[in-house]
Amino acid sequence: MPDQSQAQEPSRPIYAKMAVIGCGLIGSSVIRAARANGVVSEVAVADASAAHRARIAELAYADFVTADPAEAVRDADLVVLAVPVLAMGEALAAAAPGLKAGATITDVGSVKGQVAEAMAEAAPANVFVIPGHPVAGTEQSGPDAGFAALFENRWTILTPQKRQDEPYRAALERLTAFWMALGARVELMDERHHDLVLAVTSHLPHLIAFTIVGAAADLEEVTEGEVMKYSAGGFRDFTRIAASDPIMWRDVFLTNRDAVLEILGRFTEDLQALSRAIRWGEGEKLQAQFARTRQIRLGIVAAGQESAEPNFGRDRRT
Ligand code: NAP
Repeated sequence: MPDQSQAQEPSRPIYAKMAVIGCGLIGSSVIRAARANGVVSEVAVADASAAHRARIAELAYADFVTADPAEAVRDADLVVLAVPVLAMGEALAAAAPGLKAGATITDVGSVKGQVAEAMAEAAPANVFVIPGHPVAGTEQSGPDAGFAALFENRWTILTPQKRQDEPYRAALERLTAFWMALGARVELMDERHHDLVLAVTSHLPHLIAFTIVGAAADLEEVTEGEVMKYSAGGFRDFTRIAASDPIMWRDVFLTNRDAVLEILGRFTEDLQALSRAIRWGEGEKLQAQFARTRQIRLGIVAAGQESAEPNFGRDRRT
């Protein structure tokens, strides 16, 4: 694990020019956080959406906005791909003609195995490809949704290539310093292991939320009005997760299929066991399971991975 004690105010920018391809929730948060912490001098953006480009120009957090990735990455020392997972390879291929030799190319995609392969295929040999994933986000999308504090005290997982040469190691150290300057903690991981861990901690919970909210709305005996009116915290939290971006999540399940199916199989067995305990009135079993999960939740709070602030701290956006 990189030395986390190095996180401090950088005395000068870590990268002179950063280009961000895809400037929605995560891309715009990277820019806002990088600006707020003084770690880049110049920012260029390429986004496929004309409406988003107009809005990014209005918000004025980038120096240059274009539809053409190759134009945005010209002279950039750091290129951050922040498009949906299945668009990463195509976005990098479009940027490739403009890439500067020695530039670092990273991404923020929620799946790493397939993205790492697509990036390696699309990148020229004279750049450093270091896939990554900031494990932070909200259910919102678009250039207005980002905020500078999004990565503070959250983990960013980097899945470096199996290269041992000194220039690659230096590029990795520099990218680690960049994320730490944005307030993140950095962990290095194998990309397949990343996909298994995230299938458990993020992809399966989203799948469950999509299912529960859809099923509740389909129940003919209970009206939609009643679902809304009587939803206490539990269901409301599920509806927040289920409002997440449909394209982003379609891509996550299409690209992390094996890990998600493996974890879903385990989950289904555990659900069957709970269902059996309910059927046979096995109160002790139920109580033991709920006591265990309560302890897990307390551990997450103790590890600082849950904000005590209302609305996940989104109200203090900058
Ligand atoms: P978002 O808010 O929808 O932003 C994506 C932006 O990229 C949009 O402006 C989109 O335009 C644009 N775009 C799509 N394809 C493009 C292409 N080929 N070239 C240039 N621009 C393109 O999405 P997001 O939530 O920031 O997610 C971006 C990435 O971050 C995804 O890979 C996701 O897995 C990852 N991530 C998300 C979260 C989260 O909580 N949301 C957390 C961690 C990581 P259109 O709207 O016109 O398509």
